[in-house]
Amino acid sequence: MIKEKITIIGGGASGFFAAINIALNNPEIEIEILEKSTKLLSKVKISGGGRCNVTHNCPDNNLLTLNYPRGNKELKQLFALYNVTDTITWFEKQGIKLKIEEDGRMFPYSNDSQSIIDCFLNLTKKLKIKITTQCEVFAIKQNLNSFEIKTNKGIVISNKIICCIGGHYNSGHYQFIKNIGHTIKEPIPSLFTFNLNKHLINKSLQGISVNNVEIKLNNFNLKSNGAMLITHWGFSGPAILKLSAFAAKELANCNYSTNFTINWLGGLRLTEIETLIFDLQKNKLNALPYSNPLNNLPKRLWEFLCSQAQINNDITLGSIPKKQLIKLAEIIYRNEFAMHGKTTFKEEFVTCGGVDLKEIDFKTMQSKLIPNLFFCGEVIDVDGVTGGFNFQNAWSTAWVCAMACA
Ligand SMILES: Cc1cc2nc3c(=O)[nH]c(=O)nc-3n(C[C@H](O)[C@H](O)[C@H](O)COP(=O)(O)OP(=O)(O)OC[C@H]3O[C@@H](n4cnc5c(N)ncnc54)[C@H](O)[C@@H]3O)c2cc1C
Repeated sequence: MIKEKITIIGGGASGFFAAINIALNNPEIEIEILEKSTKLLSKVKISGGGRCNVTHNCPDNNLLTLNYPRGNKELKQLFALYNVTDTITWFEKQGIKLKIEEDGRMFPYSNDSQSIIDCFLNLTKKLKIKITTQCEVFAIKQNLNSFEIKTNKGIVISNKIICCIGGHYNSGHYQFIKNIGHTIKEPIPSLFTFNLNKHLINKSLQGISVNNVEIKLNNFNLKSNGAMLITHWGFSGPAILKLSAFAAKELANCNYSTNFTINWLGGLRLTEIETLIFDLQKNKLNALPYSNPLNNLPKRLWEFLCSQAQINNDITLGSIPKKQLIKLAEIIYRNEFAMHGKTTFKEEFVTCGGVDLKEIDFKTMQSKLIPNLFFCGEVIDVDGVTGGFNFQNAWSTAWVCAMACA
């Protein structure tokens, strides 16, 4: 009897996860992974600073989907089939227990991405999954009952294809998918930090992190909350990265040059900040302003904000005129900055864009245009914020696809 053959294009997170789960569920299928580079699972290796942030401790599927600027609606359907809890159980079953960090990120106890790689490589060996490296796919063609896959190593014939080539800003990456008839949403970067143009704040306050700010891109009506880090070139940290993902398209369209405002006290209203400042004055009439930061703002940031409001440290809080205190409140509430370009965050980039979600059936990850062609992972127009969400997309799409194929 001739065995059914499934070819997986791409030896990354989703490719391996799909291959292993098909083999675990149907040993009768012949599976081959084609990987263009010499290295397998190279992103897994460097992920999470070499520790691999496998997923995020978020068992609630509705909350989980809020971390995906693109694909939110489709992922609801997908996570109903395979979610974070399933991921944790899967890895545990393979002997890899995941630990939860304070911010919800989940890593292997080993703190080493190599344990995930070893687990995948051991399983592929045990399950007799064929792996061909240095094998780049250029084109695919569908015949009556099979596909012809054109590679630099010749033609591979297969009954099904699972395309797991990941994301890339270069649209040429997706050319063979386009050529077979699929729509590709323009690939652009997501997850980056904001650059400023030689701003005084970077010179004087680099290295300071603020617990809870609100950043607003007023031109686009987009905002985010959370911790922020002042770097020597601009701003970074969770609130900035989240905003870069949710505003990826708008920021690309304006060439990463736009104004934004920071509310240094999270989402507090202007009147609330004014009240806090007046109370501070009332309670510390004879104190010097710089030694009394408002609401636990970092001391050096507080000094910086006071000096922007022309409040010096040579008069007591009690003698600062009301007008100046109102100006300080306004600066804290709506501090304006201009973005001048972006910087990749620790090389941890993700692609916004990819295969149009309308052309994929999320119950199986099968193409709605070409039967027996499937897509998993970052190649589709789904991306998440940092914290393990991108791998969760890889695991969920791959598992759902594997069940459909097996
Ligand atoms: C530095 C860094 C750190 C990251 N850390 C995290 C993290 O800790 N947690 C998290 O959730 N996400 C993280 N991410 C994102 C995450 O790595 C990706 O979302 C995830 O790897 C996507 O998996 P994938 O299988 O879709 O694609 P990939 O892992 O990118 O794999 C795609 C594979 O396909 C191969 N390929 C491409 N084109 C072809 C072709 N034509 N023929 C054959 N092979 C091809 C590529 O060489 C590659 O090996 C990180 C990303 C980076 C860059």
